[in-house]
Parts: sequence; C-alpha cells; structure tokens
Amino acid sequence: MTTPETKRPPFGSVFADDMAVASYNKGKWERHEIRPLGPLQIHPAAHVLHYASTCFEGFKSYLWQDGSLNVFRMEQNIARMQQSARLLPLPDPDRDHMAAMILDLVSHCRDVAPQAPGALYLRPLLFGTTPTIGAPTVPASEALLVVLASPVWDFFEGGLRALSIFVDDEHMRTAPHLGVAKAGANYASAYSPTIAGIRAHHCDQVLFCPDGSVQETGASNFLLLRDGHVLTRSLDTTFLHGVTRDSLLTLAGDLGFRIEERVFSVPEMLEWIEDGEAALCGTAAVLAGVGKIVYRDKEYRVGSGEVGPVTRRLREQLMAVQRGTAPDRRGWLTRVAPHGR
Ligand SMILES: *Cc1c(COP(=O)(O)O)cnc(C)c1O
Repeated sequence: MTTPETKRPPFGSVFADDMAVASYNKGKWERHEIRPLGPLQIHPAAHVLHYASTCFEGFKSYLWQDGSLNVFRMEQNIARMQQSARLLPLPDPDRDHMAAMILDLVSHCRDVAPQAPGALYLRPLLFGTTPTIGAPTVPASEALLVVLASPVWDFFEGGLRALSIFVDDEHMRTAPHLGVAKAGANYASAYSPTIAGIRAHHCDQVLFCPDGSVQETGASNFLLLRDGHVLTRSLDTTFLHGVTRDSLLTLAGDLGFRIEERVFSVPEMLEWIEDGEAALCGTAAVLAGVGKIVYRDKEYRVGSGEVGPVTRRLREQLMAVQRGTAPDRRGWLTRVAPHGR
C-alpha cells in the first residue's frame, strides 16, 4: 500500500480490517479465528476491568523489495508475552498457537502492509475475562488473546530529530518486581510522572532513574553510545527487556563494539554525553537519538545536540536486517506465506 506523505496517519491509529481472536476457557485455549475488526463483548465484571490483568506485545512485519512479508523476532515477542502472562498472572499463551495466530492474521492483512519505510505493526493483547469481582486476590482463569495489525509509516517523518529527555530520579516507572512485564498496569504507573515531567520541562520523554540509577523511559530502553562502545543497564526485573535493545547490542557486538551492560548513575551519564551519544530504542522508533537532557532544572547538551553518527550507524544496520538488505544471520525473520497457500 502506498500512501501519500501528507495523508499518513499517526502511529497506531489505523488498523487492518481483520483481527485474530482466541479464548481460554476451562483450562485450555480454543482455536483462534480471524474476524472483522470490531468491538469485543466482555462482561462488566471481567477481571481485567477491575484488576488490570492485561499485557501486550508490539513488533513489526516488513514488506521487502521482493514482495515478501517478514515478521521480525516473533519468537522473542511471544516468549516475552508468556513471561508477562506468568507475572500477572494470566493463562500462558501457547507458543505455537500464538505464532499460528499471528502468521494467519499477517497473511490476511498483506494488502495493507505499507512499503518501506512503513511496516505492518502487530499488537497481541491478552486479558482476563473471568466475570467475578469477589476474589481480587485470585487470578483470572478465563482470558482472551487478540492480535491487531496496524499499518505504520516512518516514525520520524521529515528526518531524524534529536529528542529531549527529562531525568526523573524521584519516581519509579513501575513496581520493581513487575518491570519486565509488558503490562498496561506499568503504563498506568508511569503516566503521571511522565506527563508532569514532559509538561514542566518541555521535553519529549521522561527517563526514569530511581535512586539516581539510569533505567528506561515509559516505553523505550536507553543506550549510551560512542565510537565502538555501548553502555546500557544490565537486565534485571525493574525494566522491560526490549527486543530492539537486544538486537542492537547483538549487531553492535558483530561490528566489534565493546558492549557494557551494568548499572550506571545519572552523573556518569552526564559525563558520558559531554562527548558521547545517547539514544532511546524500541520497536516503533528503532533507535532515536537524544540531543538534550534536562536534570534538576539544568540543561545538558548531548554531544553536538544532533543525532550522532554511532546512533545513525546502528539504526541503519538494524533497519537493513529488518528490510532484508543485510543478511539475517540469526534467523530473526519469519517469512509469511501468502494467504490460502
Ligand atoms: C515495549 C517496551 C520497550 C521496547 O521494547 P521492544 O521490544 O524493543 O519494542 C521498552 N520499554 C518499555 C517500558 C516497553 O513497554
């Protein structure tokens, strides 16, 4: 699908005509169905509406030059949804069932997959539907798994713009034991401090640094970069383990970069950015350069204040693999068979 630049809708605001739906009842998953996109019927007592038993995923499939459609790192996203489900807890999605559901939907939605630099964004959603409100400490035993497909265009239309971020060392994005779950509850927890930080300091994003230790923003991981060197927080339960983060670290390793994963402080970050780079990473934006950091009412310029060369290089490298113009050495891509074949 080609859409003129002026008519491109915001990220995640338009959807394919179909969705995939599967329900979990009496201890097992039912076979999924592909249905026209539309409202779902749920009971007003549904567990999710009261106790936030919901988690989601987000990843993309890419239409290549050769006309094939390829999903990027589907297995890792399914595994992460299983992890989120176990933490909430919700019925665990079956890996093969969920993969079949995703691929079935993508093959149905082939016609709305945009050309590069667009992509077909996939959004699986799992939530508890058990209609009881009397036992808040009991997890949902019934659930729905829904997969949506959304054509998305370039996140950075009109060129790469360096972002500004506000450093919040006062709040936590979420409860430290739940940071690894891609859960609505974590977003709810981050909203107030995020909105307050963005408004008060006229920034694009808020970087959470509880106790002065650099973590992540409300929806993306954070990297410090310089020539041949990447520094990012080591994996722990406090933050979301991004697939983009993992992919970028792997590719940087292939390029011979030194990859440092450890806890680091705000002062250390401020020292790094004097002549280094900083960037946010996630599926939507891939790798987005940071040009300015605001901390305790002081502004700090990151390197030159523009998107730096290392950020651009790693971003290009990852996009080349996603778009099939660089080799997929690790089997990150799943080719989607055309519908009905
Ligand atoms: C989804 C998400 C990310 C990025 O994860 P990717 O797998 O790279 O898209 C980072 N942080 C949070 C809080 C997220 O929800």
